[in-house]
Amino acid sequence: MREDFLLLNPGPVPLAREVRTAMSEPMVSHRSAEFESVYERAQNSLDYIFERSSLDGTKTTSGGTSLVFNGTATMAMEAAVANLAGEGDEVVTVVNGKFGRRFKRIADRYANVTPVEFDWGHPVEPEAVAEAVSDDTKVVTMVHNETSTGLLNPVAEVGEIAEEHDAYFVVDGVTSLGGDEFLVDEWNVDVAVTDAQKCLAAPPGTSAMYATPRAQEAFDGEKAPFYEDLDWHLRKAESHQTPFTSAVPLFRGLAVAVENIEEEGMQERISRHRSQSRAFRAAFMAMGLSMFPEKNDESEYSNTLTAISLPAGVRENPDAFFDAVTDRSVSISGGQAHLGGEIFRVSNMGNLSSEQILRGVRAIGEAFHE
Ligand code: PLP
Repeated sequence: MREDFLLLNPGPVPLAREVRTAMSEPMVSHRSAEFESVYERAQNSLDYIFERSSLDGTKTTSGGTSLVFNGTATMAMEAAVANLAGEGDEVVTVVNGKFGRRFKRIADRYANVTPVEFDWGHPVEPEAVAEAVSDDTKVVTMVHNETSTGLLNPVAEVGEIAEEHDAYFVVDGVTSLGGDEFLVDEWNVDVAVTDAQKCLAAPPGTSAMYATPRAQEAFDGEKAPFYEDLDWHLRKAESHQTPFTSAVPLFRGLAVAVENIEEEGMQERISRHRSQSRAFRAAFMAMGLSMFPEKNDESEYSNTLTAISLPAGVRENPDAFFDAVTDRSVSISGGQAHLGGEIFRVSNMGNLSSEQILRGVRAIGEAFHE
């Protein structure tokens, strides 16, 4: 792979050189003091990210615990649901894209699920969620930034509904945490999950969770899959270990990546992601393209992932378009599931520079004219 090959897929994203270097250091035992210090560094910087993801720099929460798992965010999503809800419990899941649907499919395995579904790309209507949530609801799940459509969902409104009914609120912040605002306390979030290879700009293979004290009290690890027993993970995390063998190189890469985020500062990072996604939207609209879907309000656009409708001519042979982008050493993504062949998606997650954003725009613009 060329050193300057530019990944603009919604994860994995390009890694800083020092992250790559950290992964190639000599192996250590996952029960050694060296490893414990790696996990502790990762936890400290993750605490910073979970607690400071606000545009104005104010503290968004405190007192919770950051955990890192061997396994991607899908596992963290499952762990959150399976430790909070079991047989006979009521879960309301909000679905308006592929990852909302994933939460539903996970919850279906553990509890009684009431889905509140919208077409992919249709904004979540909080009134419909309010109708579905009752005092019997144990857990509400939702995706903040729906990566399959580029929609930013109204987590604050849904969190208010969950709180009114004393339900636990589990939020997928996979493509927002580390790149956009995420207000744990203000949005009444009990458990937030994220992935390493998205806005954290770490290698794929681990995921992270922030569990508030309220969520921790409610966890029942015995009813979760053995590997995902969060009571056990929390106990081991006190001494900066994981219950099972840790993916040592991946933890090392993650520790350096999240330390880099702390160094940049979340306020700065959120502003950068917002201005880069605005730049993508402006450039694509200037090319005469339409966003997918056309949003009513600028605040509904994701600040980390831009979804654009493929023009009619390109839909006849989308592969030629994607190949022409790749020929320019840039990689972007198509639509997922039924959106395949209808849209393309471009990420600005991680540590991209303005030059890289411009390179992406140029490669895509040229590919349309090839
Ligand atoms: N949630 C969201 C919003 C995502 O974008 C993704 C992956 O793209 C996931 C969950 C699942 O992540 P993974 O496949 O790494 O488990």
